[in-house]
Amino acid sequence: MADINSYGKQDINQDDINEVIKALKSPALTGGSYVESFATALKNAVNAPSASVCANGTVALHLLYQALGITQDDIVIVPTITFMATANGARYLGANIYFADVDPLSGLLTVESIQNAINDLDQHNLKAKAVVPVHMGGQACDMPKIRDLATKHNLLVIEDACHALGTTYEDSQGKSHKVGACSHSDGVVFSFHPVKTITSGEGGGITSSVDIIQTVKALTGHGIIRNVNDQPWYHEMQMLGYNYRITDIQSALGLSQMQRLDQFVKKRQELINQYIKACENTPIKFAVNPDVVHTTSWHLFVSHIDFNKHHTTRTNVMNTLRNTHEIGSQVHYIPVHSQPYWRKNSLNSKLNSSELTHALEYYQSCLSLPLFPLMDLTDPKRVIDALQDILK
Ligand SMILES: *Cc1c(COP(=O)(O)O)cnc(C)c1O
Repeated sequence: MADINSYGKQDINQDDINEVIKALKSPALTGGSYVESFATALKNAVNAPSASVCANGTVALHLLYQALGITQDDIVIVPTITFMATANGARYLGANIYFADVDPLSGLLTVESIQNAINDLDQHNLKAKAVVPVHMGGQACDMPKIRDLATKHNLLVIEDACHALGTTYEDSQGKSHKVGACSHSDGVVFSFHPVKTITSGEGGGITSSVDIIQTVKALTGHGIIRNVNDQPWYHEMQMLGYNYRITDIQSALGLSQMQRLDQFVKKRQELINQYIKACENTPIKFAVNPDVVHTTSWHLFVSHIDFNKHHTTRTNVMNTLRNTHEIGSQVHYIPVHSQPYWRKNSLNSKLNSSELTHALEYYQSCLSLPLFPLMDLTDPKRVIDALQDILK
């Protein structure tokens, strides 16, 4: 029995600790070789054209949006079921955000919901510049179809893969693609927060073309370009950038964790299989996206429960899980468009667009249950038994 009082947490072993100690004793605590090695490890893990690492997933989004040319004149389509950073990263650049609906069970952005967003914008003579599929819970969106639609409408595709390091999907020819390879997008963003597949404490990653990653790297350090000429001291600030650097200490941890990526993914899949088995013949539903054949690096186990039907509330279920069974749970996510800031500032509200009903349906019933590599394979049944007991 593992300690499952939270929905997710890191798995740090002695190798990880040893690598961090080595980094602490190395010449550079930041801007050193661990940072480069971590970026290379990310590139290799996902077959990316090029990769860079930075302070966290939120700034990774900001950097990629900026490098791809998103400005205050642009509209970005973002699913409303995501972590708020997906929208905020583009908003930092002044972009307008149009929130799109999602599949009511998987929470994934769909081709239909993007088409609806495009149609609604079209009615106001507006055109989006980019769409941002979020691989919710680790399940891949239907990237080949999304890319086709985006190409038709001249949209950039930016993948928020903060949940999906280690996920692979197949296209209609049966060819397999790693999330992060940019097979059907212009760039991909990852997070290495402790609840994510691997961690560097805080950390983020970006994969894209060699050119875009070069810009991302410059923006990560104040837009400074070195080696402009043969004067050793000379450097130029060619664009307005930031200090969004990750440290070598964090990169050493990330690099060490990356070596266990396959192990982490495998364990998460085994736990999901236990959850699915335990949920059979119970009122607890669970969504596997039927549109895409894929190997999922499960980040979340999002169950769906009709709380009303069981004469209870989610609050009551969560409190009882915690207080009686010491089981943590969480809601992923409150629809971002309904947050007070976005209720005032989203393009949906400015255009008085229709409500995102499938997302609200998803939000009513979702409950994320513990899922992380340190769990025992018997834990999922323990969680579902406790839940059934509460729902009785
Ligand atoms: C975690 C996460 C982010 C942001 O990552 P941080 O590293 O926490 O800044 C962005 N999008 C999604 C979907 C996430 O889950």
